[in-house]
Amino acid sequence: MVDQESNRKVDSDLEAKLSCEEPQIIFGIGASPGIVIAPARVFRRRTGSAAWRRLTPDRIDREIRRFREAVTTAEQELRQLRASLADDLSDALSIIDSHLLMLKDRMILDRTVEIIRSHHINAQWALATALGLVKKKFDAIDDPYIKQRYMDVKHVADRIFGVLSGKADEILSDDRAKVIVIGHDFSPEDILHMRADTVLGFIAEEGGITSHTAIVARSLGIPAVVGAKDITCICGSGDRVILDGFSGRVCLHPTPDQLNQYREYDRQHRCSSRDLAHYADLSSETLDGHRVRLAGNIEMPAEIAAIQHNGGEGIGLFRSEFDFFSHSSLPDEEMLARIYGKMVAALAPLPVTIRTLDVGGDKFSNRLPHTGPRLDLERNPALGLRSIRYSLREPALFIRQLRALLRASVHGRLRILLPMISSPSEVLAVKAICAQAARELERKKIPYDDRVEVGIMIEVPSAVILADSLATEVDFFSIGTNDLIQYSLAIDRGNQYVAHMYEPLHPAVLRMIKQTVDAGHQQGIEVAMCGEMAGDPMCAAVLLGLGLDELSMRPSAIPHVRRLLRGSRYQELAALGNRILGCRDVDEIHRYLGRYLPRHYPEEFCHP
Ligand code: PEP
Ligand code: MG
Repeated sequence: MVDQESNRKVDSDLEAKLSCEEPQIIFGIGASPGIVIAPARVFRRRTGSAAWRRLTPDRIDREIRRFREAVTTAEQELRQLRASLADDLSDALSIIDSHLLMLKDRMILDRTVEIIRSHHINAQWALATALGLVKKKFDAIDDPYIKQRYMDVKHVADRIFGVLSGKADEILSDDRAKVIVIGHDFSPEDILHMRADTVLGFIAEEGGITSHTAIVARSLGIPAVVGAKDITCICGSGDRVILDGFSGRVCLHPTPDQLNQYREYDRQHRCSSRDLAHYADLSSETLDGHRVRLAGNIEMPAEIAAIQHNGGEGIGLFRSEFDFFSHSSLPDEEMLARIYGKMVAALAPLPVTIRTLDVGGDKFSNRLPHTGPRLDLERNPALGLRSIRYSLREPALFIRQLRALLRASVHGRLRILLPMISSPSEVLAVKAICAQAARELERKKIPYDDRVEVGIMIEVPSAVILADSLATEVDFFSIGTNDLIQYSLAIDRGNQYVAHMYEPLHPAVLRMIKQTVDAGHQQGIEVAMCGEMAGDPMCAAVLLGLGLDELSMRPSAIPHVRRLLRGSRYQELAALGNRILGCRDVDEIHRYLGRYLPRHYPEEFCHP
């Protein structure tokens, strides 16, 4: 594996020399937003060669000792890095903690020692072999999020390779120039070593948006593109590069036109972020004093910082699946209670809405227990054992999550959200399990808040039709339009061939939203929306007019929607909602909004 990398280095050195100065665009994945224009600095790992070396029997114990000492040194390096970080980099700290745990993982440690002993070969080769076996296991997993976790194992192994080779990596920033660092892949620790004043961004050939490297880049605010295939072969140090961390595009040797275009794009983005920034600190109310809560949708606790930065008034949707997918084993109650408790405390007294497991459909992991069918083998997963149906079928796992949630409720205002409810009997079944969870905590004298709010997602048409009955059973509704559109218009949300028919402003969808709002309000409960359309300013204007009490969206959309809300009168929004509800087809709605919105909200809808 390392051999291959050193071969690539020679090839890429050559290619970098040969590379012509032709403009070229490489498409990667935008992992951390921002535009950077700067010279490249190609980073190569100095892990040395993992050439195969046979050991005489008397050298074996010494080689094993050398390997173990390298692991200890790698651990000390990580601990030093951890100690140097500020406490508010909590996601980086927990990623380093997970790497420290991996250093002790038997998959790497014991397997390498075993290979040295049984094959009489040197530590680097044995480690590369052990890593290859781990990679095979990860390759067999379908879930892209879990697949990404292989990169963590590799980063930990790379650190041991580095110690074994006795050569330090190049320093990731140099004191003189401002550069974009380009490499095969970067570990989260590499990113933490990058100096903010000289490394303006980075581009990696490997990695995905959920990789820990991307998470750290986002939390440090370093623009980044990952998955830029072969960039180290095409780009040499000193080449001029534009990094577009929004779209994932990389322009090599940009033309003067491209440079001007990106400079203008960057200027506009900075201006509009500056203009919008002050909306983070303002209240969410219309000119005539009607308040609507604007909250954030997140998938990882680290994203709480983005909610706070954008002035979100709590979490409207925490998708809890990722904690079940991202660790090497299923999280236990303690771990979940700790994660949820910290989130609730971080935002107290604002509400933190945590949705129970919503697996199945397009989200599954082979690690989840299944007494029923394998979720990934279902013929029609969107209509199968998804979501609350799975949780009710696997009560042991479900009650673990409910106990953890109840324990977290003492730290602030927690709201438990149940996904994909299609009839009142499911709510009653969940309530029974929740009551059992509460009794178990009482028996163990573990405190919880017995007034914790329980709400349901309205994302299945039957839930809309029964919204009046369901409203009597729960404390709030949250409309999940991503699925409600899929199920009501019969459009698979992941199918590119019918994607053009996926229409949030379809009159049928809008009428269902209105019916849900009215049913909730008649029972005196709040009605929120956490589907994607809540964060689209064009839809948000209509939704506000339909009377929603909370809109929850990706955090960066919050200032846009707040600007729109603060520039409106509620009566006018309600009139707009009514007018749109009277439309018979989508084109009519688009035509009407196309005229209305730029007239009323020029700063949002009339771009320069
Ligand atoms: C929804 O369906 O609108 C929703 C918010 O849930 P998810 O996208 O996680 O299915
Ligand atoms: Mg959904």
